[in-house]
Amino acid sequence: MLKVEGLRARYGRIEVLHGIDLEIASGEIVCVLGANGAGKTTLLRCLSGVQPIAAGKITFRGEDLRPLPAHRRLARGLAQSPEGRQIFTNLTVEENLRLGAWLHADDRVQTDMDHAFTLFPVLKQKRAQAAGGLSGGQQQMLAIARALMGRPSCLLLDEPSMGLAPILVDQIFDVVRQMKALGVTVLLVEQNAYGALRIADRGYVLETGHVALSGPAAGLIENPRIREAYLGL
Ligand code: ATP
Repeated sequence: MLKVEGLRARYGRIEVLHGIDLEIASGEIVCVLGANGAGKTTLLRCLSGVQPIAAGKITFRGEDLRPLPAHRRLARGLAQSPEGRQIFTNLTVEENLRLGAWLHADDRVQTDMDHAFTLFPVLKQKRAQAAGGLSGGQQQMLAIARALMGRPSCLLLDEPSMGLAPILVDQIFDVVRQMKALGVTVLLVEQNAYGALRIADRGYVLETGHVALSGPAAGLIENPRIREAYLGL
C-alpha cells in the first residue's frame, strides 16, 4: 500500500534521513522505533507531505506521491495524527472532529462522528466541552478520532502514547489494534517499543537516519540488540 524507496530529507544543509526503504502492506500495523532524534517524525512528515524530500520516492496505492501537496495526499486516504496532538484547545470536541472532516460532504460527517464516538465513548460524553479541558489521554484519543474523520485507508500515528499514564497507554494501543480490525493500515511511530511491537505485525528500527533493523514484530521483540537498546531487558 505504501512504499518508500531511498528517501532522503534535510533541514537546511544537514541531511537527517539517509536513504530510507520501507514498505507497508494493506491492513498491516507497522511500527517505527528509534531513539530521540533518529528521524521518525521527519519520516512521517515527508510521507504526509508537510516536509519536502531531498531524494527518493514515495508510492501510495500505486501512485507517486511526490507531486502531491499534503491536502491531496489526505484526499487519497493518507492521514497523519501529529506528534503532540495539535488539537484546537479552545474549540469543542465536536468542532475538532468536524475539522477532521473538512474534505467531506456534510451528510457523511454525522455518520463518521457517530463512528468516532463508538470507538471513543468518552469523547461523546465530552462532545460539547472545550478540548483544552480534556485529560492528556482524552486529547490523544481526540487527535486520533479527528484523523479518522477523513476515513483514511492509512493512518500515520506519531507517538500516540507519549506522556500518558500506563493505563491510558494500554487504551491507546488497544484502539490502534481496533483500527486494524476496521481495515485501516497503520504506520505507528513510537518510543514505547514494547507496546508498539506487541500490537504491530512488523517493525523498523531507525538509527541516526538509517534503517538499522527490520522484520516481523515477534522476531524484533526477541532480538538481543532490541531487548538491550529499546526494551531495557
Ligand atoms: P523525537 O522522538 O525526539 O521526535 P525523531 O526520531 O522523531 O525524534 P526527528 O524529530 O525526525 O527525530 O529529528 C531527526 C533529526 O533532525 C534530529 O537530529 C533533529 O535534531 C533534527 N531536526 C528535527 N527537526 C528539525 C528542524 N525543524 N530544524 C533542524 N533540525 C531538525
